[in-house]
Amino acid sequence: MCREDPLSPPLILGAGPAGCAAAIVLAEAGRAPILIDRDASVGDALCGGFMSWQTVANLRALGVDAEGLGAHRVERLALFAGDRSAQARLPDAAWGLSRHALDTGLRARALAVGARLEIDRARSLVPGMIEGERREWQSDAIFLATGKHDVRGESRPREAADPALGLRVRLPGHPDFASLIGDAIELHLFDGAYAGIVLQEDGSANVCLALRKSRLAREGGPLDLLNALAERHPAFAERWRYAPDNPVIDTIGSVPYGWIADGTDPGLYRLGDQAAVIPSLAGEGMGIAIASGQSAAQAYLEGKGATDWQREFSRRAARPVTIAEAIWKAAETPALAKFGLSAAAMLPALATMAMRASRI
Ligand SMILES: Cc1cc2nc3c(=O)[nH]c(=O)nc-3n(C[C@H](O)[C@H](O)[C@H](O)COP(=O)(O)OP(=O)(O)OC[C@H]3O[C@@H](n4cnc5c(N)ncnc54)[C@H](O)[C@@H]3O)c2cc1C
Repeated sequence: MCREDPLSPPLILGAGPAGCAAAIVLAEAGRAPILIDRDASVGDALCGGFMSWQTVANLRALGVDAEGLGAHRVERLALFAGDRSAQARLPDAAWGLSRHALDTGLRARALAVGARLEIDRARSLVPGMIEGERREWQSDAIFLATGKHDVRGESRPREAADPALGLRVRLPGHPDFASLIGDAIELHLFDGAYAGIVLQEDGSANVCLALRKSRLAREGGPLDLLNALAERHPAFAERWRYAPDNPVIDTIGSVPYGWIADGTDPGLYRLGDQAAVIPSLAGEGMGIAIASGQSAAQAYLEGKGATDWQREFSRRAARPVTIAEAIWKAAETPALAKFGLSAAAMLPALATMAMRASRI
């Protein structure tokens, strides 16, 4: 194995939204960062695909135009629980975009402004060094941006009892979607679960669920669960009838919603889901990823150490994460969900306030 020169450029492990955001800021400042990812081709990460108005503004500052990538404009929040529904206007325009499109745009921008992409899978990490399958990488500044994938040496604690899971299905584009879903981000609230639905750049509807493991076990499997939800919830059924016969259902296990890094090692900046995991119902995970990448890179350029930056970022993330956690817990409890929906129907400004309060 060869080693990187100790005075080597900053290393960024993970070329998702967090890693690419850091890479763009560092590259634009002339620091020629090395972006390391295990995959040469950009995948399509399991995600709700909703980007808030603030996320899109941060992307624009990085030189990435969501609308230019074909994103679908979103103006409304539509809530459904049992036989009730409510609507509220978003504070500003948001967008629906697949992760394949977003991550492709971000990666291209990072490389265009001077980041170098290396393909390697990290096996372990210690301050100052990443041990990859191909080689060892050394630098006095490492940005850890592997998202939901922990790297040995820096693993996040796992929630033991009844962890949260994610499911994702795509409904192929249909002309009815314009009137059925249109410019809304929909949240369908169920007992112990929710589904977010938004249209994307190709006209397909992204259906993403977060639920407790126990809920999935009760229903049998992902397809049984989705069919059962459609049987019990008319508004969800209206959308689910556009599902293909044998839908591809992507899954992700043990999402540590609510976790926030309470510290780090010198020289190691933890970004994105490695810094804080906001409940996905808020649609702000990508916002946190991008904001953390931008702010950590800026801190590094200004000579601020990783431990000070991490402490400040943890404090900054605490408010939206705590608020989103409270909303998520209420949303998965049917009586509270119905009460919240009635309140939002009478006073849509309440829902708009909650949306603002859960931004980073
Ligand atoms: C069910 C669900 C729905 C969601 N919906 C939304 C939503 O609608 N809106 C929103 O804003 N957020 C949403 N999120 C959150 C969002 O997906 C994440 O917060 C975001 O992807 C975090 O970005 P990241 O850059 O930290 O990590 P990731 O996007 O996970 O990127 C990590 C990168 O690291 C690479 N990598 C991983 N391990 C290694 C390794 N060992 N070596 C090398 N490379 C590695 C991967 O290939 C990948 O490119 C949702 C999350 C879930 C679970």
